[in-house]
Amino acid sequence: PKISPFLEPGKTTKVGSLAILQLSRDNLQPVYLKAPSGKHDGYAEGAVVNTRYGSFPHSTMIGVSWGSQIRASKVDTGSRGRNNKRKRNKSDDDGKEGSATVPEEKPEQESTPAEVKDDSSAVAKKVVADVSGFIHILPPTPEVWTSSLPHRTQVVYTPDYSYVLHRIRARPGSVLIEAGAGSGSFSHASVRAVYNGYPSEGEPKGKVYSFEFHEQRFHKMNQELKEHNLDSLVHLSHRDVYNGGFLIDGKSPEAEAIFLDLPAPWEALHHLSRRNPKNPEDKDWVSPLNPKKSAHICTFSPCIEQVTKTVSAMRRLGWVDIDMVEIVNRKYHTSRERVGLNLSMDRGVNNSARDVDETLSRLTEIETRFREHAAKSKESDDEMDGDEDDGLIRRREKKEQKGGRKRGGEKKVKIHHKPDSPESFETPASGVPLWMEGRLITRGEPEIKTHTSYLVFATLPIEWTEEDEAAAAARHPVVG
Ligand code: SAM
Repeated sequence: PKISPFLEPGKTTKVGSLAILQLSRDNLQPVYLKAPSGKHDGYAEGAVVNTRYGSFPHSTMIGVSWGSQIRASKVDTGSRGRNNKRKRNKSDDDGKEGSATVPEEKPEQESTPAEVKDDSSAVAKKVVADVSGFIHILPPTPEVWTSSLPHRTQVVYTPDYSYVLHRIRARPGSVLIEAGAGSGSFSHASVRAVYNGYPSEGEPKGKVYSFEFHEQRFHKMNQELKEHNLDSLVHLSHRDVYNGGFLIDGKSPEAEAIFLDLPAPWEALHHLSRRNPKNPEDKDWVSPLNPKKSAHICTFSPCIEQVTKTVSAMRRLGWVDIDMVEIVNRKYHTSRERVGLNLSMDRGVNNSARDVDETLSRLTEIETRFREHAAKSKESDDEMDGDEDDGLIRRREKKEQKGGRKRGGEKKVKIHHKPDSPESFETPASGVPLWMEGRLITRGEPEIKTHTSYLVFATLPIEWTEEDEAAAAARHPVVG
């Protein structure tokens, strides 16, 4: 079977890879990488991702290590004219990373992989003024998928699902029931948790049985599972679980972990019993639970009224160790207070004249160093232009781009992997490296507005039969 990139992405990107482009801290775009469709005038032609940080031909993103920084194309991909006509979208201004020098451009970005167009008008034509934006190319993981997936419903986020999966003891080889599937955020996280290899035949050991009654969501999710090579590990059924329960063709999936993200989880609980709740003697009753293991459940409900109904149904149906948790997630922002300014604040009014001088001379020193650093980076960039060992696609010589000269030599598109390391800013006379100057300030969010849901956990123990008791007594006979 084809291995899902969510489970084993490999080391480098390939044609056909699902890549998550990180445009800025909170702006992630999923894209399927396409091979160049041909060459035009010496340039690779094909799909391009256009963003306010510049244009990124797919050809520059193929064959690079996951996590690489990708520089914007310095050739005109035909997108600037189109983009400039539009207004800039405020929500694209988040995060400083990848901030571009491209002025006032509305991104014409694909919001879902399906929307990526192989735009043959995106032919490199001429050099555009110094487009120096960049993005990072990330492998698909449940975490980045949750942040970038096309939302069809409310989704379960990473802080909640990581805790849930831990509490319901999802681990490699577990069989997990999930309802409803919604946008598939929890499904992706849970299949990774239970993944224990693809089966050569029959059922895999770790598997997710997922249920969704909304028809379009069911079809969309099925399509996504296929695209992500997860369809043999996640079995999705189109069903109303309140009425239809959790059996697969009348057989038990033998689950031991359950997650219910439904408006009325208490209406589905009677199906998750070991015996028919209406008639415990019913021999034809098939339970969806593994009879040899305790079952661990979590229900996810935004309102406390839903919680009380769920807890009450759990008690009646024999669930034990019932408790409720709310994950309250507070973000902290840590930074250094701007170098120099804190000196004057610390020392009070009397010394202010001296401190202002000191501060100014310190800021001048910093600025000089930053300039030197920027000049050095530029020099090494220019050196890299002549460097032939990147093994990526080729482009025209810089001189030729600037004007007139006949095409001949080819150069490769630069992909930068060099972060600005702290060492780049050498220790000044003060003995403290510049990047370490200033007080470290950490601020938490003043108000926590992250209520997602209440998580109700419970356990349904295995049934203890007369036979189990006899077997236990035989193993541990009472002496004396
Ligand atoms: N956990 C999902 C995720 O992380 O993407 C989101 C689930 S969404 C909030 C709830 C889903 O439950 C909806 O897609 C809805 O159609 C589905 N649903 C509601 N009642 C259902 C039922 N009786 N049987 C199956 N699915 C149901």
